Amino acid sequence: MSCKSDININPHFKKNVQELVQTHRFDAPVYVTRPHIPTLETYAKALSPAWERQWLTNDGILHTELELALAARFDVPSLRLFCNGTVALLTALLALDLEDGEVITTPFTFAATVNTLYWRRLRPVFCDIDPYSCNLDPAGIEAKITSKTRAILPVHVYGRPCDVESIQAIADRHGLPVLYDAAHAFDVEYKGRSLLHYGTLSMLSFHATKLFNTAEGGALASPNAQLHDPLKKLKNFGIEGEDTIIAPGINGKMSELHAALGLTQLENVGEEIEGRRRIAIYYNERLAAVSGLALPKFDSDTIKSNYAYYPLRVDGEAYGMNRNLLQLHLQEFNVHARRYFHPLCSTSSWCLVEPGRLPIAEKAAQEMLCLPLYGTLSLESAAVICDIIMQLGAIAHKTL
Ligand SMILES: *Cc1c(COP(=O)(O)O)cnc(C)c1O
Repeated sequence: MSCKSDININPHFKKNVQELVQTHRFDAPVYVTRPHIPTLETYAKALSPAWERQWLTNDGILHTELELALAARFDVPSLRLFCNGTVALLTALLALDLEDGEVITTPFTFAATVNTLYWRRLRPVFCDIDPYSCNLDPAGIEAKITSKTRAILPVHVYGRPCDVESIQAIADRHGLPVLYDAAHAFDVEYKGRSLLHYGTLSMLSFHATKLFNTAEGGALASPNAQLHDPLKKLKNFGIEGEDTIIAPGINGKMSELHAALGLTQLENVGEEIEGRRRIAIYYNERLAAVSGLALPKFDSDTIKSNYAYYPLRVDGEAYGMNRNLLQLHLQEFNVHARRYFHPLCSTSSWCLVEPGRLPIAEKAAQEMLCLPLYGTLSLESAAVICDIIMQLGAIAHKTL
């Protein structure tokens, strides 16, 4: 028995899967996530202050209200809203004056993390990841630091905290800023407070696919207020006062329409997390018995999880088929799991790293599959998804 490439042409396998499809296929597609959305009435009500004032963007009152609410929620002295996470990250690079050098980062992330470096002529220097957390492994960082290194850019992948203490110790030894991509880390706590207390700046994304969303949106948070005023100017073209331009800033502002959506979402994000938690725990209970699947761990003594993702790791030999085939077969059931993150950022043509140089990340990119997880996913649907995954493994073992 092995994970075969001829899985699609084995007639017994095919017949068994087709029978299962007859009984277990979802009528409507089940996507990996679904955005939390308020009712139109609720949203219209939240928008009315902007309509009354006829004020759509540039420091509107809804924008200010959301900025302050999020800073209070995470108990950070500085939080600035942005039009999206990518522009927030780009603005952070500008604010820290990072340009023309190297940035140590992880290949196991969404393209945006590494793409922003390109816009500042910064070269990504990839370090391998920790095999469990899938975050940048601090053990590899120091060997990559050179005179050209300008910063460290780790990612809290799936909302799992990076080894923030070790990373900070390395950064302090070498006088480097740490910029966290915290796109997945909304509401995650480490040692009793928001993860956004670590590093020089952290970027949040409020894209529709994220746990907390404003359709498009993002933020930069910081444990000190040093960059609070500069960031406000940099996201508004670098304008100070009426007509002084102090830096080559960008248009990174969040509109009142997005801020209004954010304010309504804030009221329900706790409920959304609770809904995801129920499903994630259910998946963990049901899938624990399936050989070849490594399941995510959530809350611990030091970590309060946000249940943003359900990353499942598939050992093809032990499960009966590899991750790619599992993803393909799940599609036959109208279940659309996603390969976060594949391919690795280090394989993009503008930062190509030879295969084999980042073995742990390469393996993770082959094995990780995120299952559908969102607050309105029913336990009944989760049960069917678990049945399908268990049965597919059993069929593969029996027929291949
Ligand atoms: C979503 C995401 C981003 C980009 O955020 P946008 O708000 O979509 O620009 C960056 N990094 C990671 C890890 C992400 O998941």
